[in-house]
Amino acid sequence: MLKISNIDVFYGDLQVLWDVSFEVREQEILVLIGANGAGKSTIIRTISSLLTPKSGSIEFKGARLDHRPPHEIIQQGIVHVPEGRRLFPEMSVEENLKMGSLCGEAKAKRFETLEHVYELFPRLEERKKQMTGTLSGGEQQMAAIGRGLMSLPKIMMFDEPSLGLAPILVQEIFEMIRRINSEGVTVLLVEQNVKQTLSMCNRAYVLENGRVVMEGSGVDLASDEKVKEAFLGI
Ligand code: ATP
Repeated sequence: MLKISNIDVFYGDLQVLWDVSFEVREQEILVLIGANGAGKSTIIRTISSLLTPKSGSIEFKGARLDHRPPHEIIQQGIVHVPEGRRLFPEMSVEENLKMGSLCGEAKAKRFETLEHVYELFPRLEERKKQMTGTLSGGEQQMAAIGRGLMSLPKIMMFDEPSLGLAPILVQEIFEMIRRINSEGVTVLLVEQNVKQTLSMCNRAYVLENGRVVMEGSGVDLASDEKVKEAFLGI
């Protein structure tokens, strides 16, 4: 569905991704794991076209995506739920949600989709008129996911959705990601919470210093000695 081939990505003169290749298959949950600074967020930002690869290509269903503007990536159905949520704190929850459906089919269907988001996250409906900055961290993460859903995505890319949340909320967010996937949305997930994500994903890639160094099913990687030592503290 999404094919990343041999991309090199730089911040200015600093190269942070080296010849990175991987693919995301339709309907799967794919996880990228790696230590801090390995380049996971940079990959997601590059797919979203917030960064442009210096070489290599990104294809979605056979068509080139790299060098297209970010709004076109969203219109293609690829949405990014960023680390830190990036909501508008002084706008209401519902206004933030509607920011996810500003054009095309998503705009035409926004009331219907909003109903669906409220069904998934009843707490957002209860707080729909509340200023977003006053929500708890978990509720803000729900709002960020809800805003992503408002654009009717085919692929949702989550960057560290569990960051800073209490364990009970982490479970809730992962459960929601599974449910969104079961409703037909392909998931690309970047997480520090390696144990949990390997148990819920179909496949995973391991990144080290900007390079892909390992690939496998979640089950296989969870029992790999190097992965256990580096990420699971076993
Ligand atoms: P983390 O979990 O800490 O976010 P990550 O695997 O997502 O880690 P990236 O955020 O993609 O890693 O960072 C990869 C490398 O790029 C790091 O060395 C980081 O310091 C560097 N980097 C990230 N953002 C920038 C930036 N805006 N300018 C310069 N260097 C950056």
